Amino acid sequence: MNNNKPHTAYFCMEYGLDENMRIYAGGLGILAGDILKAAKEFSYPVTGIGLMWHKGYSKQVINEDGRPEDHHPVNKEIYEHAKDTGEIVSVKIKNQDVKLKIWKLDKFNNATLYLLDSNLPENRKYQNITDGLYDGFNEKRISQEIVLGIGGVKAIRKLGLNIDIYHFNEGHAVLAGTELIREKMKNGMKFKEAWTEVKDNIVFTTHTPVKEGNEAHSLDSLKKMGAFNSLSRKQMKELGDSPFSMTVAGLRLSRISNGVAKLHGQTSREMWKNVKGKSPIISITNGVHRKTWVDQRIINNMDDQEKIYDVHKKMKQELVDFVKKTNGAQLDPEKLIIGFARRATAYKRPNLIFKKSDVIDPYLECGEIQLVFSGKAHPTDDNGKDIVANIVKKAKQFPNSVVFLEDYNMEIARYMTRGVDIWLNNPRKPLEASGTSGMKAAMNGGLNLSILDGWWVEGCEHGINGWQFGDGYAGEGQDESDLYALYRVLFNEVIPTFYGNKDRWKDMMKESIDTSYERFSAKRMVERYYDEMYNK
Ligand SMILES: *Cc1c(COP(=O)(O)O)cnc(C)c1O
Repeated sequence: MNNNKPHTAYFCMEYGLDENMRIYAGGLGILAGDILKAAKEFSYPVTGIGLMWHKGYSKQVINEDGRPEDHHPVNKEIYEHAKDTGEIVSVKIKNQDVKLKIWKLDKFNNATLYLLDSNLPENRKYQNITDGLYDGFNEKRISQEIVLGIGGVKAIRKLGLNIDIYHFNEGHAVLAGTELIREKMKNGMKFKEAWTEVKDNIVFTTHTPVKEGNEAHSLDSLKKMGAFNSLSRKQMKELGDSPFSMTVAGLRLSRISNGVAKLHGQTSREMWKNVKGKSPIISITNGVHRKTWVDQRIINNMDDQEKIYDVHKKMKQELVDFVKKTNGAQLDPEKLIIGFARRATAYKRPNLIFKKSDVIDPYLECGEIQLVFSGKAHPTDDNGKDIVANIVKKAKQFPNSVVFLEDYNMEIARYMTRGVDIWLNNPRKPLEASGTSGMKAAMNGGLNLSILDGWWVEGCEHGINGWQFGDGYAGEGQDESDLYALYRVLFNEVIPTFYGNKDRWKDMMKESIDTSYERFSAKRMVERYYDEMYNK
């Protein structure tokens, strides 16, 4: 199938390929899954490299006290979806050989993915490296990154894959660079020369516009764990500085890198402008895999405004039924439903809409506004858990107009992005790299109501295909000005249109689909990765 397109090995910590294969945490994994599926569908040779997380990410449920609580059950079913290749590679961790079994996964839209698994009895205390996604810091995290990066390259060699491009999706995979360099040095090449050569085949995507969110490790810890991989301290420092920044290393190991929306590219260029020897940072805006995220009934009726409206009404009823079944709340399908689902963390401000209770509560009381929330806090993020607890409290106060769906996952995302009228997003600009759930909602006929951040800067035509609020302001008093801007647009534009001007609402639904369907598809995104990053 190659027809001269470069064969890309795509490295990522997590993959959201299917509702039943829970080896993802959130946006990064869903994006990786969508890229693999779209690449397969449109004949681009991309092979994924990842880890076999048999405990997946945290299963986060709400306890008696209304707070999120983390559970880590083993997901046996993930093994049933994968095939054992019979191949094993090993990496050195703290000077001990750790064996990694290689699984192949190709049943979900035929996307091809190899998953490394340390869960073998002979690994003894290193058996648990690939247990739980993002369950470790420092030493455990470094071990996981050795498995992904160094183990990943070894797996590629073992399987005999002919790889032209190594794509490190986020900094987690950059240790693959040390292995690619080591291979060349073993054949007699000098470090600098080897680095220059491997660079020609590496591309890098950065996702994190918050400096502290970019992972770094001390050189001492990396050395202790075996992450130097036969390079010297000086050489490691040249790649990633000291402490060793995974992002800086990604930028220096690659020939080109990208941010995941236009604005995010700008933010990243600004953020890393002092890094010497980095690759140019371009922007490739994320997109979503339509067969996964757009309801077939919408695809079949895309040109017919009335039918879009009818299908959407059905999907809204399906969401109402799903909420009833999983949560017990009874929403009214005739009234406005607003959806908000993303990681529960301070900068995404999930509680923003509740900030002035004298303003918002009357609408919740009468049910003219109904809110469906979902999202997990990182297991160690107490502040994020407070945010969830707050929403749960609000849901107790307004049981049939505020709902919190626990353990956010692809199934919940499917119901929500198909069924809501409005998709709300209010991160503190410019901290949302792209966001993709709003694209899913838009393609299903939902209307975005969002801050001008991430993809919405490119997608928004205010009052035509959705609404923006806040005008992109990011200075002092941002929280307060965004709150009033949200209320203004919600009460003066969204509500009057929904309840008083159905024809205009229908026009907007159609526009929402028409302006997102091609432009924010994973197909478009993969084409751009090939044109602007992979092809030489
Ligand atoms: C789409 C999706 C995401 C990504 O959402 P953002 O808009 O990027 O926050 C995260 N989790 C799940 C389950 C999704 O389906």
